[in-house]
Amino acid sequence: MDRVFGMVYCVAKNCRTKSGQGIHLFTFPKDSERRELWIGNINRENFEPAPHSRLCALHFTPDQFVINPELAKSIGYTSKRNDLKDTAVPTVFKKDIKRKKSNSAQLKTLDLEEKESQS
Ligand SMILES: [Zn+2]
Repeated sequence: MDRVFGMVYCVAKNCRTKSGQGIHLFTFPKDSERRELWIGNINRENFEPAPHSRLCALHFTPDQFVINPELAKSIGYTSKRNDLKDTAVPTVFKKDIKRKKSNSAQLKTLDLEEKESQS
């Protein structure tokens, strides 16, 4: 699914950012320690970034950028190109909502089994 040339997509779960939307897409850090932090936070099973893999700016808090986007906006400064700090790690991800439902279903099953063994 990554074999699309010309168009670049964000690798994060539930994220549909692609090139041409005015959102910057960042390459993975070459530094292995920070690279591991990025992969860990992305939290996708068996995910290994390819050389063309990108992560979009939406997954970084404003303080992770060289120029704080919120501060830049407040003084009327807008730039499409804004680099991440050398220490930046993505921390903003949408949470998986589906898991809670299966938990309550399991509890009900256990309850029924208990009653049957008592009688
Ligand atoms: Zn994204």
